[in-house]
Amino acid sequence: MSATGLFRGRLLWFDREPEGAEDTAAFHYVEDGAIAVADGRIAWSGDWSDLPEAFRSDDYSDYRPHLIVPGFIDCHIHFPQGQVVASYAGSLLEWLNTYTFVEEQKYGDPTHAQSMAGRFLDMLLAHGTTTAVAYGSVHKGSVDALLGAAVARDMRMIAGKVMMDLNAPEPLTDTPQSGYDDTKALISEWHGKARVEVAVTPRFALTSTEAQMEMSGALAREHPDCIVQTHLSENHREIATVAELFPWSKDYTDIYDHYGLMGPKTLFGHCIHQGPREIARMSESGSVAVFCPTSNLFLGSGLFDLDKMRSVSPHVRHAVATDIGGGTNWSMLRTLDEGYKVLNLQGQRYHPLRSFYQATLGNAQAIGMETSIGKLKAGYEADFVVLDVASNPGMALRAETVSTLSEELFLMQTMGDDRAVAATIVSGVTAHRRDKA
Ligand SMILES: [Zn+2]
Repeated sequence: MSATGLFRGRLLWFDREPEGAEDTAAFHYVEDGAIAVADGRIAWSGDWSDLPEAFRSDDYSDYRPHLIVPGFIDCHIHFPQGQVVASYAGSLLEWLNTYTFVEEQKYGDPTHAQSMAGRFLDMLLAHGTTTAVAYGSVHKGSVDALLGAAVARDMRMIAGKVMMDLNAPEPLTDTPQSGYDDTKALISEWHGKARVEVAVTPRFALTSTEAQMEMSGALAREHPDCIVQTHLSENHREIATVAELFPWSKDYTDIYDHYGLMGPKTLFGHCIHQGPREIARMSESGSVAVFCPTSNLFLGSGLFDLDKMRSVSPHVRHAVATDIGGGTNWSMLRTLDEGYKVLNLQGQRYHPLRSFYQATLGNAQAIGMETSIGKLKAGYEADFVVLDVASNPGMALRAETVSTLSEELFLMQTMGDDRAVAATIVSGVTAHRRDKA
C-alpha cells in the first residue's frame, strides 16, 4: 500500500505548542510547498522551487491554493457508536443505558463489525482524520474487525476491546479473566502489526468490579508500551455512583491510581469535575486529560476547564477528541470550534494556532507518536489532509476578507466541516477526495 508521490500546495506544520498569536517560531509555513513521498513516508518537504531534482516530476497532485496540514488525530472515539450519534438523551447514564448498550450488542456479530469497520474508517478519512484511538465493543471481534481494516489501508490506528463486568446488560459483559485473555490475544495478534496498536481499555470504573480493575492494572503493567484508555470524571451522577462502588477511594482519580492505571501512556476521557488533588496526580503521573467538547455539551456533562488544570499544574497534559457517539460530529474542525466556545464561556481563549497544533502534533504527543506522525517533515509517515477555506458559500464569502494565516485557520475551525476536507492522504496514498466522494 505504501506509495511514492508528489504533492503541491501551501504547507503548515508545528514544532511545538505556540505560546500565542505572534509565536511564528512554533510552526513552519510554506506558501508554495512540495511534499515528496517515498515508501509511505515523507522523503522531502519544503519550498517547491527548492525541490531536489530526484523528486521532480510533471506528474503531481496540485492542491493549490489549499492548505496542507498533518492528518488530524482523534484521541477518543467509539467504533461501535457511529449509529448512536444524535440519540435523544438527557445525560450520560440515560444515554448509555437507553441507546449505547443496545447498539453495542450488534458488534457481537462479526459480519456487522466488519462491515461497520470499513464505514468507520471512511468516515474518519472524509473528515481528515488519519489516526484515532478507539474503543471497540466488549467483543474481541469488534477490534479484530477494526484493526484488520486499518492494516488493509495502512492506517495508523489504536484500539482496544472495552472490559466491563458490571452495570451493563449481560450480553455486553465479560469477566475479569476473559477481558484479560481477550486483550492479551489482541495484543499478540495486532500490537505493532503494520501501523496499528492495541490499547488496554477498561470502559470506566462504573462498569468494572475490583477484580477487573486489578486485571486491567496487570495488563498495563505487563504491556507498558500499550496505551491505556478509560473515562474519568464526566458526570456528577457517574462520580457519585463510582464513589459508592469504591468507598475507600480518595476520589475518582484515586481508583485508577490504586490499580496502577495512571501514567504517560494513559488517556482519560473528559476530566471535567476533578479537584486540585486529582489534577496534581494527573500532572505528576504524566496522564493525559482528553477534552471532548461536543460530547460534553451534548450530554450536558460540564465544561472542561483548562485554566483550572493549568493553575494547579502548568504541565498537565491534554488532548482533544470527538468522542463519537456521545460527541456529535466526526470532524476535528467542528470539535475545535466547540472547544473554543467551551473555553470562551469560561473566559478562556484558545488561539487557532494552538487549536491546529493540538489536533495534529499536540495529539500525536499525547499518544506518544510525535516522532512518527503530526508533522510534514522528512522521515514522518505521509499522513496529511488538504483543507479548503472556501468550501461552502458562507466560508467563501468570509474568506474574501481573510488576510492572515491565523484568520484562515480560525475561519476553517469556526465554519468548516467535512466539506473543508478536499483530500486525505494516508501513507502517501490519496485515500479520500471530496470531488470523488
Ligand atoms: Zn467516550
